Amino acid sequence: MAQYIIAEANRCLQCKNPKCSKGCPVNTPINEVINLFLNGKICEAGEKLFFNNPLSSICSLVCPHEKFCEGSCVLSNKGNPIQWSSIERYISDYYLNKMNMKPNIDPNKKIAIIGSGPAGITIAFILAARGYDITIFELRDKIGGVLRYGIPAFRLPKDILDRLKEQLVNMGVKIRPNTLIGPVITIDDLFRDGYKAIFIGTGVWNPKPLRLKGESLGHVHYAIDYLKNPDVYDLGKKTCVIGAGNVAMDVARTALRKGVNEVYIMYRRGEEDMPASKHEIEYAKLDGVKFEFYKTPIELNDKGVKYLETKKVKEDGEEKLITLENTEGVFETDSIIIAASQGPKANIVSHTKGIKINKFGLVTTDRCGRTTREGVFASGDVVTGAKTVVEAVKFSKKVADAIDEYVSKK
Ligand SMILES: Cc1cc2nc3c(=O)[nH]c(=O)nc-3n(C[C@H](O)[C@H](O)[C@H](O)COP(=O)(O)OP(=O)(O)OC[C@H]3O[C@@H](n4cnc5c(N)ncnc54)[C@H](O)[C@@H]3O)c2cc1C
Repeated sequence: MAQYIIAEANRCLQCKNPKCSKGCPVNTPINEVINLFLNGKICEAGEKLFFNNPLSSICSLVCPHEKFCEGSCVLSNKGNPIQWSSIERYISDYYLNKMNMKPNIDPNKKIAIIGSGPAGITIAFILAARGYDITIFELRDKIGGVLRYGIPAFRLPKDILDRLKEQLVNMGVKIRPNTLIGPVITIDDLFRDGYKAIFIGTGVWNPKPLRLKGESLGHVHYAIDYLKNPDVYDLGKKTCVIGAGNVAMDVARTALRKGVNEVYIMYRRGEEDMPASKHEIEYAKLDGVKFEFYKTPIELNDKGVKYLETKKVKEDGEEKLITLENTEGVFETDSIIIAASQGPKANIVSHTKGIKINKFGLVTTDRCGRTTREGVFASGDVVTGAKTVVEAVKFSKKVADAIDEYVSKK
């Protein structure tokens, strides 16, 4: 492993105008970090990564690297980019074990962070390092959000989150688990108790329904619910996942690992149209997931999924998807999992005044995460809709600065 990492680091051309950094949403200073690493300064390299992106150890594993850093590497033109993700993983993992942040808290600078996903964790690290007295309120028993309760452990080992939590606690961050902000503790209660600013990073946890007959039957489940705790589900021998994004791939691969014999993905378009990333599709195929293309579900019943076949046609030069008459069939299956995206819950906005949301229920903010209520900030999926970890980090870095500026001026 170490030999491979060194060999990859040595392949870096140290470009004067590094496209890899430009291609990364948080502009990771890749060539500087590689330089430090190759010169025996792994702790400095790790520190640089961490202070640029507190979730560097996570991003090294789950970022769509082919789209960002590795896809922008000049060597990718020759089909062989530097495997920066592996180098980042090695350095950031090492640093996470070594780092030793000490508390330096000003009790007059209390900040409430609602939600401990990538957005909340990023804000907590940045502001705790600047002396803020942080309390994180988390609905679930452990921190991480989707990192803990969505992305399967075979893609992201959960001990990284435990180690990040340890570092937060070392820095003096208080964590209140199993605490839903909204109906019981409200935003007004938080202001009453002396929090100078409140951050909302609650993500998108409402599954989007298909609104089909049969959706409430006992063998039908939603992807985001299933991934929270797959062990409590009995899916039978055969399951059908409806949808073809990355979440659908995670569900399908998890179901196979949890003992389901046959897992099918049903998608109304073709393989080339699947929204999941290429390598997630490749992994799904390698794991044994099977695909049913050009079928659109019209009803879910005790036997399985009733569908109609579809076809792509060109109309006025534009491609359209049409359903074909008299092609109705039933895809027999023991269970069905719907993976058709997620939207936000309204626990906070329905129990407080002044926080504007858009027609999708997403919190409205300016570019720096200021909501329409003074002193309340937001970022991550609850503002942008479902995106990626690194994009939540990018946005949250700006929001941390805006909170700092707001509290300092008060
Ligand atoms: C299955 C799945 C796989 C994914 N895979 C990838 C991937 O491989 N790579 C990638 O980059 N991105 C991936 N994503 C997207 C990525 O995980 C999200 O963009 C990211 O987690 C958003 O971070 P967040 O902090 O905004 O929200 P979340 O991660 O959703 O965290 C929100 C937190 O707020 C808590 N919360 C909610 N409401 C309240 C409340 N009222 N009170 C207290 N706490 C509350 C929740 O319990 C949760 O812990 C995936 C998403 C899913 C669903």
